[in-house]
Amino acid sequence: MRSITKFDLQYAHRFYKFQGEAQYLHGHTGILTIEVEDSIEPGVNMVYPCNEIQKVAWDVLKNFDHALILRQDDPLLPAILDVYEKQGIKNGAPSNKMKGEAFKTELATAYPDCRLVVTKETMTVEGMIKIVYDLLKDKLNIAKLTFSSGVNAATQEYKPTKTIDRCPLCGVALVNGVCPKCGYRKK
Ligand SMILES: [Zn+2]
Ligand SMILES: [Zn+2]
Repeated sequence: MRSITKFDLQYAHRFYKFQGEAQYLHGHTGILTIEVEDSIEPGVNMVYPCNEIQKVAWDVLKNFDHALILRQDDPLLPAILDVYEKQGIKNGAPSNKMKGEAFKTELATAYPDCRLVVTKETMTVEGMIKIVYDLLKDKLNIAKLTFSSGVNAATQEYKPTKTIDRCPLCGVALVNGVCPKCGYRKK
């Protein structure tokens, strides 16, 4: 069975060199849906608690919220960093609190201090799905990702191959056989 959870992401981006309005900087509320598949853990009668999926995923997804997402070859990138630098906010600001974990993958690099994600490919809805899968595939048994932004939407299904040992008391993933939340030990 599947546990399904949704995220709202407010971001700005553009499709550099795309022949259309989207080559101009603009913003969206993107909606990401993550579907996690596994057996039902009988102790809690759940696949995976949705608030736990939220917690695991939000640690990295925070980087995309109230953020600017630009392709690595976009000339806006040095221009914006120059403005942030002069304004003294490039390396952080006291009001910039909801920061995610910095990450660097083949497809994207996050700079939480200035709320910027630099991508290898254009950040279309399809591009976002590739980036998110890459970031979360080892943490969650992802069966499907859907991302919509304005009139654009894309979805991709995956075949989860493993099962994650979960705590029969709180449903969260066990770490080396121990529940990080309640201390339950697998016998
Ligand atoms: Zn757009
Ligand atoms: Zn537990």
